[in-house]
Amino acid sequence: MSKEIAKLRQMPAVDEVLRTEQIAALLQKHPRVLVVESIREALDEIRNDLINESDSRPLERDVLISDALQGVYSRVAQKARPALRRVLNATGVVLHTNLGRSILSVSAREAVSQVAQNYCNLELNLASGKRGSRYSLVEDLLVRLTGAESALVVNNNAGAVLLAVGTLAKGRSVIVSRGQLVEIGGSFRIPDVMEQSGARLVEVGTTNKTHLRDYRRAIDSETNLLLHVHTSNYRIVGFTHETSVKELAELGGETGLPVMSDLGSGFLIDLSPFGLPYEPTVQETVADGADVVTFSGDKLLGGPQAGIIVGRKEIIDRMKKNPLTRALRADKLTLAALQATLREYLDPELALHTVPTLRMLTMDLGEIEQKATRLAGLIRTEAGDYLNVSLENGASQVGGGAMPTADPPTVLVALRPHELSVEELTTRLRNTDPALVGRVHDLKLLLDTRTLRDEELPLVARVLRQVCTEVTK
Ligand SMILES: *Cc1c(COP(=O)(O)O)cnc(C)c1O
Repeated sequence: MSKEIAKLRQMPAVDEVLRTEQIAALLQKHPRVLVVESIREALDEIRNDLINESDSRPLERDVLISDALQGVYSRVAQKARPALRRVLNATGVVLHTNLGRSILSVSAREAVSQVAQNYCNLELNLASGKRGSRYSLVEDLLVRLTGAESALVVNNNAGAVLLAVGTLAKGRSVIVSRGQLVEIGGSFRIPDVMEQSGARLVEVGTTNKTHLRDYRRAIDSETNLLLHVHTSNYRIVGFTHETSVKELAELGGETGLPVMSDLGSGFLIDLSPFGLPYEPTVQETVADGADVVTFSGDKLLGGPQAGIIVGRKEIIDRMKKNPLTRALRADKLTLAALQATLREYLDPELALHTVPTLRMLTMDLGEIEQKATRLAGLIRTEAGDYLNVSLENGASQVGGGAMPTADPPTVLVALRPHELSVEELTTRLRNTDPALVGRVHDLKLLLDTRTLRDEELPLVARVLRQVCTEVTK
């Protein structure tokens, strides 16, 4: 025991480490609190080691200080990493909600950067010099692209639904099909949103079949809204019937009730020519007679997180006056990115190339195969000693709770590590910078290049080498 005490006597104090040149250099780059905290932790670790280790290390103070410095470097590096970090998405899930859904087009990124660096006319009308409205910034584009009379953008689509239902039916009832009582994820469930908005939910029909007559029968003096919800993330197949927005709009016309369609992942370009399922676009839904349509900015539209509401002017004007709109308002960075994204759609052919979400979803198999072959070659060069690399056919996913039954064909790079377990490999890959996330199947790590950009491929190979060499050292 006395030997341990003798060892501990040699322990440097926090201040002593803090005064070294090396730490002075570190303090130029990192906040003092983090550096001091790291010194404390590093010294604690050494102290514990000294107490627990039976074999004694050389006990010079210099050695202890240099040990401590090593510990401080790695701790400071760890603490300095941003909480929100870059991830290489090799999952093949294009709209991966956990990985941030859509990545932005070049023009959207530039727009965000402009607005982030400079003051802007967020609420100043530059033509008149008077106060302007942030909502008018994207309204014209949305009206032009969707054919609706008016538009409003809020923070996200969950907020858009809450605002729309609350404005149209607070204290009154809303008719929804039992087949459309969707849970999107987290706590967004249509019945709960209804309750939050202060409207009463009236369920009609059955899980698999809801007819127009079911809606008609449920209408009474309390009814204020007919709501159609896109069953984004699930499909009811077999003996089914769904009442279309068009039929609901006719009923709405007869009864004077507004019809709302929550499209979830609304989009402006029909993607069925690219092998994806046909679903009505926002324009078609508006043309079918929906009075209000809500959809997300960052699902298939491929823009920033936002909730987009388009519809009849009289209704949108009422929403603009709802105090909830202020609570849900979109910020300037979102509006900048959304405007730039929407602009891409003025030329749909071009948008298919410039909006990354559309680009990835419409990429043909030949191109994916080329990318996969290139990635496999890069990985063999960088980490072929540690990994068995092969190509496999597979399927990508749309994700983001959209087109759940679509499985666009893809070519996967399959990696089987020689010495590590696949679990160990994936754990390590989540901790590299950038992190790399793929899919695990059958003791293999599968990488789908559909969701990786060309310039990311060498980075993927380097990250794999880094992880593999760390381990076998
Ligand atoms: C995704 C989705 C929402 C929620 O949209 P967020 O943009 O995630 O808030 C609402 N309704 C439907 C039908 C959806 O698919």
